[in-house]
Amino acid sequence: MTFETDYLVIGAGASGLAFADELVRRSDAHVTLVDRRDAPGGHWNDVYPFVRLHQPASFYGVESIELDRGELEASGPNAGWMSLSEGPEIVAYFHRVWREKLLPTGRVRFIPMSEAEPGDAPGPVTVRHRLSGERTSVTVRRKVVDAARFTNAVPATHQPGFEVAAGVTCVPPNDLPRRAAGFGHHVVLGAGKTAIDALCWLLSHGAPASSITWVVPRDSWFFNRAKVQPTMAHFDGTFTSAAEQREAMAAATSVRDLAQRMEACGAWLRLDRSIEPTMFHFATLSEGELGLLRRVGRTIRMGRVTAVERGRLRLQRGEVEVPSDSLFVDCTASALSYKPPVPVFAGPRITIQMVRIPQPTFSAALTAFLETQPGSDDERNACMRPVVMTDTVDDYPRSQVTDLANRHMAARIPAVRDWLARSRLEGFTHLLAAIGPGDVARQAIVQRIRAASPPAFENLQRLAAATRGASA
Ligand SMILES: Cc1cc2nc3c(=O)[nH]c(=O)nc-3n(C[C@H](O)[C@H](O)[C@H](O)COP(=O)(O)OP(=O)(O)OC[C@H]3O[C@@H](n4cnc5c(N)ncnc54)[C@H](O)[C@@H]3O)c2cc1C
Repeated sequence: MTFETDYLVIGAGASGLAFADELVRRSDAHVTLVDRRDAPGGHWNDVYPFVRLHQPASFYGVESIELDRGELEASGPNAGWMSLSEGPEIVAYFHRVWREKLLPTGRVRFIPMSEAEPGDAPGPVTVRHRLSGERTSVTVRRKVVDAARFTNAVPATHQPGFEVAAGVTCVPPNDLPRRAAGFGHHVVLGAGKTAIDALCWLLSHGAPASSITWVVPRDSWFFNRAKVQPTMAHFDGTFTSAAEQREAMAAATSVRDLAQRMEACGAWLRLDRSIEPTMFHFATLSEGELGLLRRVGRTIRMGRVTAVERGRLRLQRGEVEVPSDSLFVDCTASALSYKPPVPVFAGPRITIQMVRIPQPTFSAALTAFLETQPGSDDERNACMRPVVMTDTVDDYPRSQVTDLANRHMAARIPAVRDWLARSRLEGFTHLLAAIGPGDVARQAIVQRIRAASPPAFENLQRLAAATRGASA
């Protein structure tokens, strides 16, 4: 089999869909999406049922369809804050994007259950169907788009990196609602967003705090949800915090000092104030969620798990006993993958990467927008330097240097500036653009952010260089 297309997009997850959505809206291109999975939406198709976004839904998904229901969270530890969307809603949303936006154009094809290797375009790319083994040769007239470079690992699809002894029940969080009631004790493995969701689920569904053990390989800094509320109703709190964060970045004498300043101004949170976190994955948490987590009966900080056995946990720094009727919940999949950055625009290939952190879908949509604009790859790449995802807090200044440099360069291109001022996925700029010149109080907040930005950028460069030097 053979066919032709203008753009072959490898990966129909949130990134591939956000790219395709913006591209077909702004051009007459024909787009083919190919994915190993059977439906669009990427890893969201395999997530646990009680997953939620950790950022407001108002700036997640694709540019053309709102995901947010326009309501505040009505109950639970995030009550009162902007809606986060639940897993089934997110999956249904991406299926809707396909059915209602992409398919009706007549210019988008989806090839499910198939694998493609990013080849060179223009030229044929081979797509192999995973069930039939059948091969399709796709002639790509314009570009191959790699939207799968940062394919997420989720608990339901990853292979745990520890041994599970015979007779022990160790499940992904997908099974928690079904299995939890059959066990007297629950041991949650991992300290990322998934583990936090599992613990909050257990505690808010009646599991006694004393029946929970939490294995925390590393403590993390979190963004405070209260400070990430991009609506006019929360304008003052959100943007005053942005100003305070820039001022902290400008004044910090070290990464440690920066973290303490971020905490002092309420922008960052941590689980235990007596422990200095090393991890930083841009997770966002509310004080309500933190309050629940602090109730957990037993927290074990002895490194990563190496083996789970009946009544026993083996860890990098020793072993501990746990009740023999424990259900182990594997939340150790690392959604994030670390790959070296490559240019986003490189001749016949586009490689989707984060150019604003932590905003993968915004980054993909901006990539598509720039693709439809005149200009060379070099001109486009000038405001599209990939921001490498952080692992530790020491990585934070570097990520911010690239992020701020991209913002600065983007603002110099009038078409991009206009696009940003209207972009739903960017989340914040359209709010700034909406304040009138007579709104003196809010203009003062904006002015404070502007004034702090150049010294913040300069100081972050120094902090980034210092951490690079220390790790060399
Ligand atoms: C629990 C959780 C909560 C999150 N919350 C947020 C949030 O609130 N806000 C936010 O911005 N982000 C959030 N994220 C990050 C999230 O991962 C991204 O927003 C986004 O979903 C990533 O989409 P993706 O398309 O890049 O990757 P994926 O969803 O992994 O999609 C990549 C797709 O590519 C396919 N693929 C890979 N290789 C090939 C190949 N060779 N051929 C064909 N197909 C291939 C895979 O099958 C996969 O379907 C969250 C992540 C998790 C795990």
